[in-house]
Amino acid sequence: EAKTGARSQFVIFDDDMQQRVAGRLATEHALRNAVSNEELVLHYQPIVALTDRRLLGTEALLRWERPGHGLLIPDAFIPIAEETRLIQTIDAWVIETACRQAVAWDHLEATMAVNLSARDLQQPDTADKISDVLRDTGLAARRLIMEITESTLVSDDATVAANLARLHALGIQLAIDDFGTGYSSFASLRQLPAQTLKIDRSFISRLGDDDATTAIVGAIINMGHALGLGIVAEGVERAVQAQLLHALGCDAAQGHLFAHPQPAAALERYLPATTIRPAARRPRASRR
Ligand code: C2E
Ligand code: MG
Ligand code: MG
Ligand code: MG
Repeated sequence: EAKTGARSQFVIFDDDMQQRVAGRLATEHALRNAVSNEELVLHYQPIVALTDRRLLGTEALLRWERPGHGLLIPDAFIPIAEETRLIQTIDAWVIETACRQAVAWDHLEATMAVNLSARDLQQPDTADKISDVLRDTGLAARRLIMEITESTLVSDDATVAANLARLHALGIQLAIDDFGTGYSSFASLRQLPAQTLKIDRSFISRLGDDDATTAIVGAIINMGHALGLGIVAEGVERAVQAQLLHALGCDAAQGHLFAHPQPAAALERYLPATTIRPAARRPRASRR
């Protein structure tokens, strides 16, 4: 603690620390204007059915085209936004932009998933604001999925719970993001108004390498199904992972094997009218 003032606790800011503090402040300052300067962009990543690779939906993933710094991924700035109130401004922009895109992609009949931070759900008016966006854009509520991490979903914060209940009542779908990284009990999972469970990438990346991981992923899929949830596997990179997931009964997948997150225009060039890569559709016989 640099400001305790106790003489015995002297702290020296070395160059490295000084640079990090300055860099963080500069990032926070630049981020403050990122929305109005139109530096934020959404990339969209397909979520496909494991049976036939049909496009089920896309997930909107935020990028920041920060002048002089290139294209930044969320890990480089979302934590800073979350420490301030900026995350609410940013996510409001994300929700509106993603909803407009979903309306433009109406013909795909796909869902649009958007990530919500815990900080968003701690604001009493968040669900109402999302309701306004649906009204303004004309997007059907059932086409919108809010992705919320396991730990946020099971929080006992009353405001979070009220927002979740309101989103559910509006007909918006909820997905449990990064499942397996939190500590939810079966009891708490049963009470969630979620429709989808997304298995965290850390499990999927080891799938096919050892039997224990396969067993764990299989157990998550069975548990999710028992709770009435649809299951999406995150971060599928290898064909063997897709094959195993399909054999284990997983419903859908998302990952570099199918498509990287990309700008809307790039995805439009890549997507045929209603399916993703029909050429990649493999005959049933090649599956287990
Ligand atoms: P997430 O919601 O779990 O998103 C999935 C992450 O996995 C994305 O990282 C995506 O690019 C990455 N991914 C997808 N397929 C693969 C794959 O096959 N291999 C590997 N290695 N990675 C893959 P990204 O875009 O860097 O986003 C990271 C996290 O930032 C997201 O995790 C989400 O929690 C958060 N985030 C993204 N956009 C937003 C946003 O608009 N608002 C908020 N609050 N958080 C966001
Ligand atoms: Mg997500
Ligand atoms: Mg996730
Ligand atoms: Mg994540």
